[in-house]
Amino acid sequence: MISWWDKQIQRADHLVSRANGSKELLTFYAHLLRAQKDTYEFLRGRKAWLPSGDPELDWVVLSEAWPRFLKAVESHGPASLAAEAHQLSESETGAFVESLMTYWYKGSDIQFFEKAFLQPYLRWLNESGGKPVGRRVPTGERSCPFCGGNPQVSFLQNKETTAESGNRDLICATCLSSWEFRRVVCANCGEERPTKLGYFHSPEFDHVRIEACDSCKHYLKGVDLTRVGFAAPLVDEIDAAALDIWAREHGYKKIELNLVGL
Ligand SMILES: [Zn+2]
Ligand SMILES: [Zn+2]
Repeated sequence: MISWWDKQIQRADHLVSRANGSKELLTFYAHLLRAQKDTYEFLRGRKAWLPSGDPELDWVVLSEAWPRFLKAVESHGPASLAAEAHQLSESETGAFVESLMTYWYKGSDIQFFEKAFLQPYLRWLNESGGKPVGRRVPTGERSCPFCGGNPQVSFLQNKETTAESGNRDLICATCLSSWEFRRVVCANCGEERPTKLGYFHSPEFDHVRIEACDSCKHYLKGVDLTRVGFAAPLVDEIDAAALDIWAREHGYKKIELNLVGL
């Protein structure tokens, strides 16, 4: 069976080859996914070790994957990230670990390196039966039940034996796991009145839409897998970057920015 990481990578490569507006962003994301997969496989392949759930404690292992990850961003990232990766590769890691832990406790969608490097760690932590240590995990349905993170993107898919045509799930921006969510509710503030919730799409991206809320003025993108079953929501979300620009121009703020800063 094809791995989760390979599915994302294949989808990114496929969309890059179609060469529409977000080609550069997607090309970078395809490289980043490969670097994340490397990190994930390194952690997973580590003999007689499982993540403790505390990245500071686990840094002794994470630090072995860190230089390679930085190298990938330096080689394939946009100029500003490449320069930052270079700088990080030349500095002591103490300051980075401190900032990693700030990200761990508080969350952020502008700390690129912290977010991108911890995604494979959290994914393996989840799969290996661990729990994040020291992170606040709110009980509400609007945060990831595993790590407490914000949703990055939603998706609709057909599930067996449900009366509704397609259920909605959210994918966590922090750990990349997904959880079930009600269909007509704002993923940011919980607004349920249909008149306050708007859906927008452009003919260019038939299976991707903006899901916006007029109560809190936030949005996220939704990917409809009942239309394009082989789509990968995290990747297709980046491909449809044009919709983010549209949403921003209309006064909506994204619940959490993705790794390419949109
Ligand atoms: Zn999560
Ligand atoms: Zn809202």
